[in-house]
Amino acid sequence: LSASTPSTFTAAALRELVGADGVLVGAEEMAPFLLDHRHLYRGRAQAVVRPRDVEAVSRVLRYCHEHRIGVVPQGGNTSYCGGATPDESGRQIVLALARLDRIRNVDADNFSLVAEAGCILARVQEAAAEADRFFPLSLGAEGTCQIGGNLATNAGGLNVVRYGMTRELVLGVEAVLADGSIYDGLKSLRKDNTGYDLKSLLIGSEGTLGIITAASLKLWPQVRAHATAFIALTDVAHVVALLELLRAHGGDRISSFELLPRVAVELTVRHIPGVTDPLDAAHPWYVLCELTAARADEPLADLMQGALEKAMERGWVADAALAANERQRAAFWRLRESVPEAQRMAGPSLKHDIAVPVASLPGFIVEAAALVAQLLPDGVLVCYGHAGDGSLHFNVNRIDGTGVTAFQEREPVLRRAIHDLVTRFHGSISAEHGIGQLKREELARYASPVGLVAMRAIKQALDPRGILNPGKVL
Ligand SMILES: Cc1cc2nc3c(=O)[nH]c(=O)nc-3n(C[C@H](O)[C@H](O)[C@H](O)COP(=O)(O)OP(=O)(O)OC[C@H]3O[C@@H](n4cnc5c(N)ncnc54)[C@H](O)[C@@H]3O)c2cc1C
Repeated sequence: LSASTPSTFTAAALRELVGADGVLVGAEEMAPFLLDHRHLYRGRAQAVVRPRDVEAVSRVLRYCHEHRIGVVPQGGNTSYCGGATPDESGRQIVLALARLDRIRNVDADNFSLVAEAGCILARVQEAAAEADRFFPLSLGAEGTCQIGGNLATNAGGLNVVRYGMTRELVLGVEAVLADGSIYDGLKSLRKDNTGYDLKSLLIGSEGTLGIITAASLKLWPQVRAHATAFIALTDVAHVVALLELLRAHGGDRISSFELLPRVAVELTVRHIPGVTDPLDAAHPWYVLCELTAARADEPLADLMQGALEKAMERGWVADAALAANERQRAAFWRLRESVPEAQRMAGPSLKHDIAVPVASLPGFIVEAAALVAQLLPDGVLVCYGHAGDGSLHFNVNRIDGTGVTAFQEREPVLRRAIHDLVTRFHGSISAEHGIGQLKREELARYASPVGLVAMRAIKQALDPRGILNPGKVL
């Protein structure tokens, strides 16, 4: 590069704003920031900028706004839809938030804490636990993803059935807007009806409306008791009735209700060291259910057992294993959380992150499985996920490694069929992973036209020069 190219010029200017060690320009040091988690997208960038505080983020945004430079915010880079990867122009910058990593305060009496955007999710959970409190957001990527990325994607995860999505766990947000102005909305209030709810707009906006720099998060009493069961269903048709029965026995103590097909157990046992089948015989479908309580003396195992006995009498459940200790509980969860990795090791897969109303789950699965059998007879359906929320990772795997190209070429046809079916079931084409660049055209096709006009108007109002995560979502 000659001294006058935009890259060199921009990098020098950015160093002035964030310090010399906060700007990466070398191909090798930038490489991890330019490739998405699923290796679907590889971008280019003028620089990777790593500010240490909100003021530095503000200076960078002001500069990029003035010079019309696209800014791609990046947290843990675990997005499943290419949301944090720059385009191929080489003109954008990646704004990596990892160095904003302070827990600013923990207010145990108010059941809240304030974390900067770059805090790893597991660190936020630990900070809550150190104050004898519980932060319920939990997902397979929690050792890598950052709380800013979780807010930006409105992440879901394993405890949504009890605590809700990320949006329901947030009391306030601090963010830098496109022109560099700092929005200080870091309140820790449970009640605050003062005009439009800007934090809710920023949550789930995937970096297209502002850069989240810190969040005030809701905490709950620490969890002191668990009852965790690995349950074999006689038929997936009974999954909703089982959830209702568990609710009748356990009330709101159900914190996870995850559905797994037989093939998910087989893949994890085959590919992930140490994973074993919790039950003796093979069954077509399983549920991993966990009840939790803040009091150590709550009779959770009795509640779980009572519900499962009834479900067996009614012929919905064939067998079940109740974790007798923490080691067994961890083994059940390891099986569940290893499914994406086992699937990846088994071969390429076509993924759909969808949701339907909970009561429609069995009907949807039956119809969607028939579509797969018709359109991709050589594919293996690996449909699993957060059934308690009606959310499914509806994936189709190629197992034996042959005919991969032909398999992948049929992706658009299968996607259209699945998303059309989801729409017929009044569902969502993106339950929790967001839109990013992967589903932009799908959003344009399936979203309400009136909703799209409103979304574009909001984008135009907050980011008139279109510098925030260009090419994502809209
Ligand atoms: C093994 C595994 C399991 C997963 N399980 C789940 C799950 O159960 N539920 C679920 O919802 N997701 C899940 N995900 C997807 C992913 O982890 C989540 O979307 C997560 O919230 C992304 O966080 P991140 O810090 O990695 O964000 P990134 O991938 O870095 O970014 C995601 C998006 O947010 C934007 N962004 C990042 N930080 C900021 C910021 N501070 N301000 C503004 N915009 C920002 C990016 O530009 C991008 O658009 C999983 C991923 C993996 C790899």
